[in-house]
Amino acid sequence: MATTQSVAIVGAGMAGASAAVSLHSAGLDVTLFEKSRGPSGRMSTRRTDDWQADHGAQYFTAKSPAFQTEVQIWCQKGWAALWEGRIAKLDLIKGRPRGKEGGTQDDLLFEPTPPTPRFVGTPRMTSIVASMLAPLTLNNQTTITGAQRVNGKWRLSSKEHGELSQAFDALVWAIPRPQLEPFEGLFPNNWQQTLSSIQFAPCWAVMAGFDSPLDLPFDGLFVGRPDNPQPGASPLSWVARTLSKPGRTGQETWTLHASYGFTQQHLNDAPEVVAEHLSQAFQSLGAPAPAWAIAHRWLYALADSTQALTANHLWDEASQLGVCGDWLTSGRVEGAWQSGSQLASQLLHSPK
Ligand SMILES: Cc1cc2nc3c(=O)[nH]c(=O)nc-3n(C[C@H](O)[C@H](O)[C@H](O)COP(=O)(O)OP(=O)(O)OC[C@H]3O[C@@H](n4cnc5c(N)ncnc54)[C@H](O)[C@@H]3O)c2cc1C
Repeated sequence: MATTQSVAIVGAGMAGASAAVSLHSAGLDVTLFEKSRGPSGRMSTRRTDDWQADHGAQYFTAKSPAFQTEVQIWCQKGWAALWEGRIAKLDLIKGRPRGKEGGTQDDLLFEPTPPTPRFVGTPRMTSIVASMLAPLTLNNQTTITGAQRVNGKWRLSSKEHGELSQAFDALVWAIPRPQLEPFEGLFPNNWQQTLSSIQFAPCWAVMAGFDSPLDLPFDGLFVGRPDNPQPGASPLSWVARTLSKPGRTGQETWTLHASYGFTQQHLNDAPEVVAEHLSQAFQSLGAPAPAWAIAHRWLYALADSTQALTANHLWDEASQLGVCGDWLTSGRVEGAWQSGSQLASQLLHSPK
């Protein structure tokens, strides 16, 4: 049985939220620190009074029984719902740009039935983590820049507030692997192999607004292989229509995700240049020119581990220090949830 009383969690994405909820329900005093203006991390939604667009994770699947049960609870609470959009893949053999000469729907391969149900947060992707964390203590706009263990307690400092007054029995990092680099001196040596095996790929995302609904035969389209596009392939990997997802209202918007190859090549381009490139690529799929387009660069978008990892989280009992995140598992929403909840379970069974 744990004797840990207070836990600091750095990062309020799905992994941090999942750990926080489990620890809080076991009676621990949990405090989260998040550098952004709100929680959810890469399960994010950009919105104004007139429009919204999920520009990070587009949907998630639930493969393990434990996560299926959790998603069912979210659906019952109204935080998530099935996305029953018309999803297609561009036929990479036949697929060709739809220029002025037009294209044919024969280039699209529609799924007869989705291979696995796809879920989204409702009314937006951020809703799930925001709802999970509503009863907890969350400090937004607090970027943790330092941590040290003094007399058996973790003391933290942040960019915005300097040294924080509260000290914690345990500390959990729930942030992408590359953002852990400044803190690696705190970690035991036996974590090195796991940490060094992880790579992150960046992704440009464009949110494009239209004056009226588009007449396209799909709501979501896998355009090309995200990792290794063929020469001359579309710069897009995926496009999706916001209003096809449950609970969304407002102006017609689409999210356009760039392929890995395009993102690498244009990593440091101005957002306006990227927005123009991806809008044009969308036009070659049959869309009109957007009324506006905004680009967002995810420097750490999708995780990929180069070797099979033995655990989906890291925990050091001696220093009461843990790490969780999607990158320790599948690089997906389900993996982030599993990583956080299993780290919490280990912490709860760890003697102080
Ligand atoms: C473009 C894109 C498309 C995706 N598509 C899908 C998809 O279709 N399906 C799917 O399942 N998954 C998808 N994913 C992946 C999915 O979003 C992630 O697997 C999941 O959201 C990761 O959750 P996490 O909690 O591990 O990390 P994150 O969501 O990255 O959360 C980490 C949090 O830590 C905060 N943080 C970082 N450093 C600090 C610091 N020093 N101090 C305080 N806070 C800090 C960050 O601001 C962030 O909020 C996609 C991701 C992207 C970017």
